[in-house]
Amino acid sequence: MTLEDNKVGLIEYKLTDETGETIDASNGNPLAYLHGHGNLIPGLEKELAGKAVGDKFTTTVSAAEGYGERVDALIQTVPASMFQGVDNIEIGMRFEAQSEQGMHSVEVTAVEDGNVTVDGNHPLAGVALTFDIEIMGVRDATDEEIEHKHAHGDGGHQH
Ligand code: ZN
Repeated sequence: MTLEDNKVGLIEYKLTDETGETIDASNGNPLAYLHGHGNLIPGLEKELAGKAVGDKFTTTVSAAEGYGERVDALIQTVPASMFQGVDNIEIGMRFEAQSEQGMHSVEVTAVEDGNVTVDGNHPLAGVALTFDIEIMGVRDATDEEIEHKHAHGDGGHQH
């Protein structure tokens, strides 16, 4: 059985950035994902298609097929008074912000003269991502998983 739409893949992974620094790793707790439902970034899912248990590979995914390129329009400067209930706004703080596209996370990148600059780009936007992957399992998804658009059980959603 190989990975294709509506199969659940169980994968061990290690994610490194362009400098070789590890960003994330499964470390013996493999991730379960539902193939074909956008659970993973597009460039990685494309590489996983057709793979079977025991397959191991390394692939580098461009930012465009990962978390996207950085977009300057997502960087905004707003008055500090908009951050109600926050006494000390500091660089590096993250907030949930409401936008026309729904809730998204922004990071404070500058604080100056009562103004706060926030960056709504994904922290991994603009970064080429290298994945070391080992396929630990491939199985058919249940009807419920397909309905929920994610995998259940070990390594997946627990609910
Ligand atoms: Zn579910």
